[in-house]
Formats: sequence, structure tokens, C-alpha cells
Amino acid sequence: MRTALVNGRLLTGSGLVSGQTLLLSGARIEALVDPADARCKHAVTVDLGGQLLLPGFIDVQVNGGGGVLFNDDPNPESIRAIGAAHRRFGTTGFLPTLISDDLDTIGRGIAAVQASLDAGMPGVLGIHIEGPFLNWARRGVHDSKHLRLLDTSLVSLLSRLRGGRTVVTLAPEMTTPDMVAQLAAGGVLVSAGHSEASYAETTAAIAHGLRGFTHLFNAMARLEPREPGIVGAALYDENTWCGIIVDGHHVDPVMLKLALRCKRHDRFMLVTDAMPIVGSAESTFVLQGRTIQVVDGICRDENGTLAGTALDMAAAVRNAVSLLGLDIVEAARMASEYPAEFLGLGDELGRIAPGHRANLVLMDDNLQVRKTWIEGLAS
Ligand SMILES: [Zn+2]
Repeated sequence: MRTALVNGRLLTGSGLVSGQTLLLSGARIEALVDPADARCKHAVTVDLGGQLLLPGFIDVQVNGGGGVLFNDDPNPESIRAIGAAHRRFGTTGFLPTLISDDLDTIGRGIAAVQASLDAGMPGVLGIHIEGPFLNWARRGVHDSKHLRLLDTSLVSLLSRLRGGRTVVTLAPEMTTPDMVAQLAAGGVLVSAGHSEASYAETTAAIAHGLRGFTHLFNAMARLEPREPGIVGAALYDENTWCGIIVDGHHVDPVMLKLALRCKRHDRFMLVTDAMPIVGSAESTFVLQGRTIQVVDGICRDENGTLAGTALDMAAAVRNAVSLLGLDIVEAARMASEYPAEFLGLGDELGRIAPGHRANLVLMDDNLQVRKTWIEGLAS
């Protein structure tokens, strides 16, 4: 079936384009054409009403949504509920994210994502395993009883997923550069986080295949005059990606603006680090036995420690515009094209381009989500 999306402002490789029609053929984008193109004649026409059509958002760090925490019950139905909650906010691709837990839960999480991928569940791109190979001193809300060192016995578990992407967040100082290389060789995208790694430890990990940094600035040793540390390495290295939480609470916007001056914008990606509260009417949730309160949009445990976010991707995009001063084109790319590139999926996701999967989000002038498509199917 062919669909013609007409009368939209489309984000393409050359910026925002008006007066063109986007043709979808089945699950794929077919072409961007003149409205008079003969192929439009027999297509199902959808009038976009002059609104913004953007590549569907891709979120590489989603702990939960719709009242569901992935750790609690890692099965395909949990993943479906989380995906449905986030889709309302423009997310058309995501990695269900496990925070530090026991190995059995990690195994069940991978199996649940595998079953979801095999069943073609909309939006599921893989899994993010955040911990438990983290630094105790920077554990944040992660339960210290689960934290452990990473050794070769776990490579086969962590590289088990087929047909999707696996991101593993680890503290480089809790393992060796050789382990980073082994994971990378097994297809795992290794990201550094919850870490006090020195600059030397971090650059050694980068040289061995470290691909990114998890929620830059949060749960990391600080930039110091005589020890640039993990943050210094993340900002100085030109090639690695940085996930950033732009909710106005986790990181001062000035810090994020400084980061954006340090390296190419296409090495930053908006993440939500969302908790079950997103897409839910509740104001509390339970995280591994602890009650987390959400006050003024901030999730905190009983000690006041930040416990993920109540952020959705559409809000992250709006915040990137209002707090970081980015234009909508760059903000949207940080939520689509750049995470797609981080995942190695840039040739089929993250852009409005012929041959790409028809994953799209329609936003109004207030940057509120009006409609989404995943593989050509609207919701
Ligand atoms: Zn974290």
C-alpha cells in the first residue's frame, strides 16, 4: 500500500522542506516528490495540516513507562507497554533498559527483548544493560548489592542478543580495556557511565572500542584541573557519542551548552532515562523495593538521590530548544539521526530519506506530538 503525506513541513537532509509530498510504500519511505507526481494519484492521502514531520525519535535509555518498570518483570508484555507509553511522545525506536540487577534478571531481560524482536514488536531496537559493572562510589540509585566486576565469563551472556542492538553501560575502571575490546568484538556497543575512571583509563577504553558515554555528567567524576577524568575524555574525544538528559534538573543547561561547544553536535543524543511514571497518572513508583517520589517532575529516592526521570522524548526535544538554544532541526536530529548513528542503524533509521523505515513523528507548532508512524503504520 502506498501512502502520500501531503502539506507538511518535513525535516530532510537539507533541513525543513515544504511543498513536497512524502510517499510511503509499506514499511518504507519511498520518495520525496512533487505533489503532481503520478505516484500520488492512487495513494492514500494524509493531510499533515502544515505541521512538522520529523524522523521518529529513538531513545537508547528507557527504564520504564506506562506504570511498568522493565526490571520488575522483564517480559515482552512489559516491553510492549513501555513502548506504547513512549510512542505517545514520539518515540518510535527504543532500547528497554535494565538497571543493575542479578544475572538471572539480565538473562531474562535479553530473552524478553529477543522474543520481542523475533515477533516484530513495533519500536524495539535492542536492549540497554546499565550495570551492574559500575563504580560503587558513583552508583546513584543503583542497588550496591548487585554491583560487580566484569570478567570474560559474562561476554557470551552480554553478546547473546541477535537481530537487535545491545548497549552495555560499564565503569571502565571496573574492568579492563581488553574486556571492552571483547564486548565490542561481540557486537556490543559499550558505553561508559556511573564511573570515576581517570582520563587515562577512559582513553584506553576508547582505544579498545568504547563507543559512548551514558548520561554525560551525571554519576561521573568531575572535570578537575589536574585530572580531566571521564568527563574530560568524553568531551575531548571527537568520535564517541554522549547521551544527555535535558530535563532542566539532571544537568545545568550551561554545562550541556559547554559540552556542545566541545565536539560535533552529531555526537550527542537525547535520552530520557525514563521511569514508569512517564505516560502514567501515578506520582510514585517502586524501584527494587524502594519508593520513589515524583515531585515537580523530579524522581528522587528517600535520600534525595535522583532516580531516573519523568522525562519523555517530546519534552526532551522542547527542552533542547528552550534550554540549550538549539533550533528544532538540530534538536530533532539529536533525538533521531544521531542516536541511529550511535546504534549503527543510520542507513535505515533516523532520517526522512528514501529506503529508510517509515518511522515518523508529526508535531504541532508547540512541539506536541500529534501522530506517529512505525514502519508505515500510523497511531
Ligand atoms: Zn544511570
